[in-house]
Amino acid sequence: MHNYLTPNFNFAPMFPEHGQGSRVWDKNGQEYIDLAGGIAVNALGHCHPILIEALTAQAHKLWHISNIYTTQPAQELAQRLVKDTFAEQVFFCNSGAEANEAAFKLARKYARDHFAGTDKHEIIACVNGFHGRTLFTVSVGGQSKYSDDFAPLPGGIRHIPFNDVATLDAAVNDKTCAVVIEPIQGESGVLPANAEFLQAARKACDRHQALLIFDEVQTGMGRTGKLFAHQYYDVQPDIVSSAKALGCGIPIGAMLTTAKVGSSFTPGSHGSTFGGNPLACAVGCAAFDIINTPETMQNVLLQGEKLQAGLQELGTAMGVFSLVRGQGLLLGCVMSDEYKGRAAQLMQLALQHGVLVLVAGQNVLRLAPSLLLTDADLQAGLQRLKAAITAFVHN
Ligand SMILES: *Cc1c(COP(=O)(O)O)cnc(C)c1O
Repeated sequence: MHNYLTPNFNFAPMFPEHGQGSRVWDKNGQEYIDLAGGIAVNALGHCHPILIEALTAQAHKLWHISNIYTTQPAQELAQRLVKDTFAEQVFFCNSGAEANEAAFKLARKYARDHFAGTDKHEIIACVNGFHGRTLFTVSVGGQSKYSDDFAPLPGGIRHIPFNDVATLDAAVNDKTCAVVIEPIQGESGVLPANAEFLQAARKACDRHQALLIFDEVQTGMGRTGKLFAHQYYDVQPDIVSSAKALGCGIPIGAMLTTAKVGSSFTPGSHGSTFGGNPLACAVGCAAFDIINTPETMQNVLLQGEKLQAGLQELGTAMGVFSLVRGQGLLLGCVMSDEYKGRAAQLMQLALQHGVLVLVAGQNVLRLAPSLLLTDADLQAGLQRLKAAITAFVHN
């Protein structure tokens, strides 16, 4: 088939046509177990009946009305996000990059509002961090391969090694307006932050009156077994970004913050045409009410443990993984020395054997399945992955 899209994606050699729960079928009727979840987006699997109901009910009422008005679905979703978090206010947008863009712009504006004339503008971020693909977010992201080609880049950004408390302490100063951290570095290898690093970041921000931003675009909305991953640690952020699973497949992003910080987003200072549109927010509300329950969180922890154990067993038995890490249902299998840098090849073989997985960098096979993953799908997924690994090691 001719591809009419720009060549910035390497499309897989199959054409997905429909899905149900953790299964996907291509246009030839071939079935796949989905352990990728649309890159941690399809948190409730495909075509969840309650989400279909929410989407169609709202589709009969109001799709879009512009941000000249607020709507009940937007207020209801914001209220849910505020109720169980540190936050008091929410800004809605359409993606993770936009949620981070809003966070970084708000941090700059907050510093300008409260510390005028002090040149307090620097953003401290982590090497190998990922925050999206807009020019500001690739610049804050710590992977130069995503930003170098688009120079000149925005300034006032400094990168420190992830989990390095001493460098963090030395880097944060009175010129710092914000520190941004992913509680688990997702794109670059499913690498969890240490509690000490997150706590040190809070303290350094407090010492220098900087804002602490957690990018929870991938780790949020139940992915790790809590609503947000930072809730495992005794650390209160000033801003959290969310997207991916927030709409379970409908594009929506959110920036959560306190009333004090949020007040710097004065009328007209930032905006979005589609952000908070009633269709996306109605689906977000329905998704939230399923995700944010003890039953779903319990399933994430239980299935996460089983999946991690199963992958560890496979990895050890076949010598392909040196380590399986992550939290809840965000897992990364680190390729062993013998197969170093070949995660993408294993992902392709997995596809051939009927299971969808992801990579995170060249050396980590990443899994981010539905939070409602069943035993049957988990076992079938592992079985197919085993077949793929067998083919991989005999290759
Ligand atoms: C995916 C991701 C983003 C970017 O989200 P988009 O919706 O693709 O813009 C930002 N931060 C993290 C941690 C992510 O995983």
